[in-house]
Amino acid sequence: MAAYKDLSKEELLKEKKVLTKKFDQIKAQNLHLDMSRGKPSAAQLDLAMGMMDVLNSTSNLKCKAGVDCRNYGVLDGIPEAQELLADMTEVPANQIIIYGNSSLNIMFDTVARSMTHGVMGSTPWCKLDKVKFLCPVPGYDRHFAITEYFGIEMVNIPMTPDGPDMDMVEEYVNNDESVKGIWCVPKYSNPQGITYSDETVRRFARLKPAAEDFRIYWDNAYGIHHLYEDKQDHLIEILMECKKEGNPDMVYKFCSTSKVSFPGSGVAAIAASPANLEDIRKQMRIQTIGHDKLNQLRHVRFFKDIHGMVSHMKKHAEIMRPKFEAVLNVLDKELGDLEIGSWIRPRGGYFISFDALPGCAKAIVAKAKEAGLVMTEAGATYPYGKDPQDSNIRIAPSYPTPEELAIASEIFVLSVKLVSIDKILE
Ligand code: PLP
Repeated sequence: MAAYKDLSKEELLKEKKVLTKKFDQIKAQNLHLDMSRGKPSAAQLDLAMGMMDVLNSTSNLKCKAGVDCRNYGVLDGIPEAQELLADMTEVPANQIIIYGNSSLNIMFDTVARSMTHGVMGSTPWCKLDKVKFLCPVPGYDRHFAITEYFGIEMVNIPMTPDGPDMDMVEEYVNNDESVKGIWCVPKYSNPQGITYSDETVRRFARLKPAAEDFRIYWDNAYGIHHLYEDKQDHLIEILMECKKEGNPDMVYKFCSTSKVSFPGSGVAAIAASPANLEDIRKQMRIQTIGHDKLNQLRHVRFFKDIHGMVSHMKKHAEIMRPKFEAVLNVLDKELGDLEIGSWIRPRGGYFISFDALPGCAKAIVAKAKEAGLVMTEAGATYPYGKDPQDSNIRIAPSYPTPEELAIASEIFVLSVKLVSIDKILE
């Protein structure tokens, strides 16, 4: 079919009639489908059920350091968990602290600490007139929620196929002292699935921040979440790169096993320079006597080492890949020639990002909802929930079953087509 913009009004109205009939038929089925949040499916969670069996009442519960994991202590995390998560994030084991069950929680704590106590001795942000964070867009709504919660001004930085627009990043970071941070999801980004290019990472490492307490919030949430064995993105390791450029303290790197083992019951960590880690420990010592070491031990006994984790992630990929391909194939087939939207084929991560015609995203999400399909709210991928173009929609294919996905994708493309026709006819 020709691009919608090239069709006459009569042709568009005719197409609309056919599509509306299809849409109404699906609507009559009273479906309840959800493509809104990036949650693993039950089948993926089943992959880690062996973790329930590795510890029991007869297990040896001492960690390598000889400490009884049932008791208090070991603030940095048990050494074998440090090793496992250090390998996962490609940093030395002495440069990582294991926290509790959520990396988002660590990010929240990190911003909160900077607000109240400052970063490595600098003025607490709450005492400053203005604090800004750069926010590559589209991005992760929960990052933006943290900075909004603390009243930090957020500045949109457009994403490019290589990562954030680095000309803009350099301009802000190197000249504006109120810019204290940037949210980054550098590999298989949420929501576009983009991995930052080598040049982008190098330009990050070479920043010359106007603010001494500027930090890159490097959220490597999808570092090992590939969809393909033979087509994988590669990301330069940022801590080492910053060290090489004489900026060893400029980055905090976050990770977790949320989408490796169990979301909400995984293990999360922060990696940073020794000076940053010491700053972090000052708070941690007051905050807790130690995190959940039994869960750390359970993870190590189950995965054994990074090789165990990598082969586990291949099983996740087996489940995720057909789902991504199902959605992408419907997009290609149904929307490929119509010029009413664009999308990226990611090689990993949890999302597909769809850009509709400007001014259509909210209406598309509302239309899909009419037929029982819940999508991530339009605007969620932008700070303050405001997509200036009203164009971006995040598709999360992981949770529904393949059968549900087939119908969900059909509802989505019908909604895109119907809303786009109305927009063109306006
Ligand atoms: N960071 C990103 C980019 C995410 O997409 C998510 C979850 O969707 C998280 C962090 C949450 O991580 P955690 O479960 O470790 O808090």
